[in-house]
Amino acid sequence: MQQRRELDWTNISFLATAHLLAAAGVAWGIFNFSWPTVILALVWFALCGLGITGGYHRLFSHPTYEAAAWLRWIYLVFGAASVQNSALKWSSDHRIHHSKVDREEDPYNIRRGFWWAHIGWVLHKEARPIARVKDLEADPLVMWQHRNYVLLATLFGAVIPMAIGALWGDAIGALLIAGFLRLVLQYHATFAVNSLAHYLGSQPYDTTTSARDSFITALVTLGEGYHNFHHRFQNDYRNGVRGWQLDPTKWFVWTMSKVGATWNLRRTPQDKIDAALAARRAQRNAA
Ligand SMILES: [Zn+2]
Ligand SMILES: [Zn+2]
Repeated sequence: MQQRRELDWTNISFLATAHLLAAAGVAWGIFNFSWPTVILALVWFALCGLGITGGYHRLFSHPTYEAAAWLRWIYLVFGAASVQNSALKWSSDHRIHHSKVDREEDPYNIRRGFWWAHIGWVLHKEARPIARVKDLEADPLVMWQHRNYVLLATLFGAVIPMAIGALWGDAIGALLIAGFLRLVLQYHATFAVNSLAHYLGSQPYDTTTSARDSFITALVTLGEGYHNFHHRFQNDYRNGVRGWQLDPTKWFVWTMSKVGATWNLRRTPQDKIDAALAARRAQRNAA
Protein backbone atom coordinates (compact mmCIF):
# COMPACT_ATOMS: atom_id res chain seq x y z
CA MET A 1 0.00 0.00 0.00
CA GLN A 2 1.55 3.33 -1.10
CA GLN A 3 1.37 5.93 1.60
CA ARG A 4 -0.32 9.14 0.50
CA ARG A 5 1.64 12.34 0.91
CA GLU A 6 0.51 15.94 1.07
CA LEU A 7 1.55 18.39 -1.61
CA ASP A 8 4.50 20.63 -0.75
CA TRP A 9 3.30 24.09 -1.81
CA THR A 10 6.67 25.74 -1.12
CA ASN A 11 8.43 23.45 -3.58
CA ILE A 12 5.54 23.64 -6.07
CA SER A 13 5.58 27.48 -5.99
CA PHE A 14 9.35 27.64 -6.36
CA LEU A 15 9.46 25.16 -9.24
CA ALA A 16 6.53 26.84 -11.03
CA THR A 17 8.19 30.27 -10.66
CA ALA A 18 11.54 28.90 -11.83
CA HIS A 19 9.89 27.41 -14.94
CA LEU A 20 8.09 30.70 -15.72
CA LEU A 21 11.30 32.69 -15.34
CA ALA A 22 13.14 30.13 -17.49
CA ALA A 23 10.51 30.66 -20.21
CA ALA A 24 11.00 34.42 -19.80
CA GLY A 25 14.74 33.72 -20.23
CA VAL A 26 14.10 32.07 -23.60
CA ALA A 27 12.07 35.11 -24.71
CA TRP A 28 14.73 37.50 -23.42
CA GLY A 29 17.42 35.55 -25.27
CA ILE A 30 15.44 35.83 -28.52
CA PHE A 31 14.75 39.56 -28.27
CA ASN A 32 17.95 40.71 -26.49
CA PHE A 33 20.49 38.14 -27.62
CA SER A 34 23.91 38.57 -25.99
CA TRP A 35 26.89 36.27 -26.51
CA PRO A 36 28.53 37.09 -23.15
CA THR A 37 25.27 36.14 -21.38
CA VAL A 38 25.06 32.84 -23.28
CA ILE A 39 28.69 32.05 -22.41
CA LEU A 40 28.04 32.93 -18.76
CA ALA A 41 25.03 30.59 -18.76
CA LEU A 42 27.08 27.74 -20.27
CA VAL A 43 29.89 28.23 -17.74
CA TRP A 44 27.34 28.33 -14.91
CA PHE A 45 25.62 25.20 -16.27
CA ALA A 46 28.95 23.34 -16.33
CA LEU A 47 30.02 24.49 -12.84
CA CYS A 48 26.63 23.85 -11.24
CA GLY A 49 26.30 20.53 -13.07
CA LEU A 50 29.71 19.39 -11.83
CA GLY A 51 28.76 20.61 -8.35
CA ILE A 52 26.01 17.99 -8.41
CA THR A 53 27.61 15.13 -10.38
CA GLY A 54 31.26 15.46 -9.33
CA GLY A 55 30.51 16.90 -5.90
CA TYR A 56 27.15 15.98 -4.38
CA HIS A 57 27.01 12.60 -6.10
CA ARG A 58 30.46 11.11 -6.69
CA LEU A 59 32.34 12.82 -3.83
CA PHE A 60 29.86 13.42 -0.99
CA SER A 61 27.16 10.74 -1.46
CA HIS A 62 29.62 8.05 -2.53
CA PRO A 63 33.17 8.87 -1.43
CA THR A 64 34.70 7.57 -4.68
CA TYR A 65 37.72 9.90 -4.51
CA GLU A 66 39.23 12.65 -2.39
CA ALA A 67 39.46 16.33 -3.31
CA ALA A 68 41.32 19.45 -2.21
CA ALA A 69 39.46 21.89 0.04
CA TRP A 70 39.22 24.56 -2.68
CA LEU A 71 37.56 22.12 -5.11
CA ARG A 72 35.16 20.90 -2.41
CA TRP A 73 34.28 24.56 -1.77
CA ILE A 74 33.58 25.09 -5.49
CA TYR A 75 31.41 21.95 -5.56
CA LEU A 76 29.48 23.12 -2.48
CA VAL A 77 28.76 26.69 -3.58
CA PHE A 78 27.76 25.68 -7.12
CA GLY A 79 25.90 22.66 -5.74
CA ALA A 80 23.90 25.12 -3.60
CA ALA A 81 23.26 27.22 -6.74
CA SER A 82 21.63 24.12 -8.24
CA VAL A 83 18.89 24.46 -5.56
CA GLN A 84 18.57 20.74 -4.81
CA ASN A 85 19.05 20.96 -1.03
CA SER A 86 22.33 20.97 0.88
CA ALA A 87 24.94 18.32 0.11
CA LEU A 88 24.13 16.73 3.47
CA LYS A 89 20.41 16.32 2.74
CA TRP A 90 20.97 15.37 -0.92
CA SER A 91 23.48 12.68 0.09
CA SER A 92 21.17 11.36 2.79
CA ASP A 93 18.34 10.96 0.24
CA HIS A 94 20.72 9.46 -2.29
CA ARG A 95 22.20 6.91 0.07
CA ILE A 96 18.67 5.84 1.00
CA HIS A 97 17.91 5.56 -2.74
CA HIS A 98 20.83 3.15 -3.20
CA SER A 99 20.12 0.99 -0.18
CA LYS A 100 16.33 0.83 -0.68
CA VAL A 101 16.20 1.13 -4.46
CA ASP A 102 12.83 0.28 -6.07
CA ARG A 103 11.16 -0.03 -2.68
CA GLU A 104 8.70 2.12 -0.73
CA GLU A 105 11.49 3.79 1.28
CA ASP A 106 13.34 4.82 -1.93
CA PRO A 107 12.68 8.61 -2.13
CA TYR A 108 12.39 8.47 -5.93
CA ASN A 109 11.06 4.95 -6.34
CA ILE A 110 10.55 4.27 -10.07
CA ARG A 111 7.91 1.64 -9.22
CA ARG A 112 5.61 4.56 -8.29
CA GLY A 113 5.80 5.67 -11.92
CA PHE A 114 8.01 7.70 -14.22
CA TRP A 115 6.64 11.12 -13.21
CA TRP A 116 6.84 10.33 -9.53
CA ALA A 117 10.54 9.45 -9.88
CA HIS A 118 11.14 12.49 -12.11
CA ILE A 119 9.44 15.33 -10.24
CA GLY A 120 6.44 14.05 -8.24
CA TRP A 121 8.55 13.21 -5.21
CA VAL A 122 9.84 16.81 -5.05
CA LEU A 123 6.30 18.20 -5.11
CA HIS A 124 5.17 16.22 -2.06
CA LYS A 125 5.99 16.72 1.59
CA GLU A 126 8.25 14.19 3.19
CA ALA A 127 9.23 13.49 6.76
CA ARG A 128 12.47 11.73 5.95
CA PRO A 129 15.05 12.57 8.60
CA ILE A 130 18.68 13.08 7.59
CA ALA A 131 20.33 9.67 8.05
CA ARG A 132 23.36 7.62 7.04
CA VAL A 133 25.64 10.68 6.80
CA LYS A 134 27.76 10.54 9.96
CA ASP A 135 30.92 10.97 7.86
CA LEU A 136 29.56 14.15 6.26
CA GLU A 137 28.37 15.53 9.59
CA ALA A 138 32.02 15.42 10.67
CA ASP A 139 33.06 17.53 7.66
CA PRO A 140 33.15 21.25 8.63
CA LEU A 141 32.87 22.46 5.03
CA VAL A 142 29.79 20.31 4.35
CA MET A 143 28.19 21.53 7.58
CA TRP A 144 29.01 25.16 6.74
CA GLN A 145 27.19 24.73 3.42
CA HIS A 146 24.27 22.99 5.15
CA ARG A 147 23.84 25.90 7.60
CA ASN A 148 24.18 28.59 4.90
CA TYR A 149 22.44 26.74 2.09
CA VAL A 150 19.70 29.31 1.33
CA LEU A 151 22.13 32.23 1.36
CA LEU A 152 24.63 30.40 -0.88
CA ALA A 153 21.87 29.28 -3.27
CA THR A 154 20.64 32.88 -3.58
CA LEU A 155 24.13 34.32 -4.01
CA PHE A 156 25.59 31.81 -6.46
CA GLY A 157 22.31 30.91 -8.16
CA ALA A 158 21.04 34.44 -8.83
CA VAL A 159 22.89 37.44 -7.34
CA ILE A 160 26.40 36.69 -8.63
CA PRO A 161 25.38 35.79 -12.22
CA MET A 162 23.24 38.95 -12.24
CA ALA A 163 26.18 41.07 -11.06
CA ILE A 164 28.44 39.53 -13.71
CA GLY A 165 25.82 40.22 -16.41
CA ALA A 166 25.67 43.83 -15.24
CA LEU A 167 29.30 44.18 -16.42
CA TRP A 168 27.99 44.17 -20.02
CA GLY A 169 24.66 45.77 -19.24
CA ASP A 170 22.57 42.57 -19.19
CA ALA A 171 21.84 41.92 -15.50
CA ILE A 172 18.25 40.84 -16.23
CA GLY A 173 19.29 38.52 -19.06
CA ALA A 174 21.97 36.95 -16.84
CA LEU A 175 19.45 36.42 -14.04
CA LEU A 176 16.88 34.86 -16.37
CA ILE A 177 19.24 32.80 -18.54
CA ALA A 178 22.29 31.93 -16.38
CA GLY A 179 20.09 31.94 -13.28
CA PHE A 180 16.72 30.39 -14.07
CA LEU A 181 16.92 28.83 -17.53
CA ARG A 182 20.16 27.14 -16.48
CA LEU A 183 18.53 26.01 -13.22
CA VAL A 184 15.48 24.49 -14.91
CA LEU A 185 17.57 22.63 -17.51
CA GLN A 186 19.73 21.35 -14.70
CA TYR A 187 16.68 20.25 -12.71
CA HIS A 188 15.45 18.09 -15.55
CA ALA A 189 18.96 16.67 -16.03
CA THR A 190 19.19 15.63 -12.37
CA PHE A 191 15.59 14.42 -12.35
CA ALA A 192 16.38 12.33 -15.44
CA VAL A 193 18.90 10.32 -13.40
CA ASN A 194 16.04 9.33 -11.09
CA SER A 195 13.46 8.74 -13.85
CA LEU A 196 15.05 8.03 -17.25
CA ALA A 197 18.09 6.20 -15.81
CA HIS A 198 15.71 3.79 -14.08
CA TYR A 199 13.51 3.44 -17.15
CA LEU A 200 15.36 3.63 -20.45
CA GLY A 201 18.39 1.68 -21.64
CA SER A 202 20.24 -1.58 -21.12
CA GLN A 203 21.22 -3.65 -18.10
CA PRO A 204 24.66 -5.04 -18.94
CA TYR A 205 25.77 -5.64 -15.33
CA ASP A 206 22.77 -6.38 -13.16
CA THR A 207 19.03 -6.99 -13.34
CA THR A 208 18.32 -6.95 -9.62
CA THR A 209 17.57 -3.19 -9.75
CA SER A 210 15.72 -1.01 -12.26
CA ALA A 211 18.87 1.03 -13.02
CA ARG A 212 19.85 1.24 -16.69
CA ASP A 213 22.72 2.36 -18.90
CA SER A 214 21.82 4.87 -21.59
CA PHE A 215 23.86 7.18 -23.79
CA ILE A 216 20.87 9.54 -24.03
CA THR A 217 20.68 9.97 -20.26
CA ALA A 218 24.48 10.35 -20.11
CA LEU A 219 24.29 13.12 -22.70
CA VAL A 220 22.02 15.32 -20.57
CA THR A 221 23.58 14.52 -17.18
CA LEU A 222 27.36 15.00 -17.63
CA GLY A 223 27.81 11.22 -17.73
CA GLU A 224 25.46 9.99 -15.02
CA GLY A 225 23.51 7.89 -17.53
CA TYR A 226 25.51 4.68 -17.03
CA HIS A 227 23.35 4.02 -14.06
CA ASN A 228 23.23 0.23 -14.27
CA PHE A 229 27.00 0.19 -13.80
CA HIS A 230 26.71 2.82 -11.07
CA HIS A 231 24.16 0.88 -9.01
CA ARG A 232 26.25 -2.29 -9.36
CA PHE A 233 29.58 -0.57 -8.53
CA GLN A 234 28.66 2.56 -6.61
CA ASN A 235 32.15 3.04 -5.14
CA ASP A 236 33.69 3.63 -8.57
CA TYR A 237 34.35 7.29 -9.50
CA ARG A 238 33.48 6.36 -13.09
CA ASN A 239 29.95 5.81 -14.36
CA GLY A 240 30.81 5.42 -18.03
CA VAL A 241 33.51 2.86 -17.49
CA ARG A 242 34.33 2.05 -21.11
CA GLY A 243 36.70 4.26 -23.09
CA TRP A 244 34.01 5.21 -25.62
CA GLN A 245 31.31 6.04 -23.09
CA LEU A 246 30.43 9.69 -22.56
CA ASP A 247 31.27 10.63 -18.98
CA PRO A 248 32.45 14.27 -18.70
CA THR A 249 32.30 14.08 -14.90
CA LYS A 250 34.83 11.23 -14.93
CA TRP A 251 37.05 13.17 -17.35
CA PHE A 252 36.87 16.21 -15.07
CA VAL A 253 37.75 14.27 -11.89
CA TRP A 254 40.60 12.49 -13.72
CA THR A 255 41.96 15.77 -15.14
CA MET A 256 41.83 17.32 -11.67
CA SER A 257 43.91 14.37 -10.39
CA LYS A 258 46.65 15.34 -12.86
CA VAL A 259 46.95 18.78 -11.24
CA GLY A 260 46.80 17.38 -7.71
CA ALA A 261 43.28 18.61 -6.88
CA THR A 262 41.82 15.08 -6.59
CA TRP A 263 43.40 11.80 -5.53
CA ASN A 264 42.64 8.20 -4.49
CA LEU A 265 40.27 7.78 -7.44
CA ARG A 266 38.55 4.45 -6.77
CA ARG A 267 38.16 2.01 -9.65
CA THR A 268 36.48 -1.40 -9.57
CA PRO A 269 39.05 -4.07 -10.54
CA GLN A 270 38.51 -4.99 -14.19
CA ASP A 271 38.11 -8.71 -13.39
CA LYS A 272 35.08 -7.91 -11.20
CA ILE A 273 33.52 -5.84 -14.00
CA ASP A 274 34.22 -8.64 -16.51
CA ALA A 275 32.71 -11.21 -14.14
CA ALA A 276 29.50 -9.14 -13.81
CA LEU A 277 29.29 -8.81 -17.62
CA ALA A 278 29.89 -12.54 -18.10
CA ALA A 279 27.25 -13.46 -15.51
CA ARG A 280 24.71 -11.26 -17.30
CA ARG A 281 25.61 -12.82 -20.67
CA ALA A 282 25.11 -16.30 -19.22
CA GLN A 283 21.77 -15.20 -17.76
CA ARG A 284 20.67 -13.83 -21.15
CA ASN A 285 21.74 -17.01 -22.97
CA ALA A 286 19.86 -19.17 -20.48
CA ALA A 287 16.68 -17.14 -20.96
ZN1 LIG B 1 24.60 7.14 -6.73
ZN1 LIG C 1 19.49 5.35 -9.14
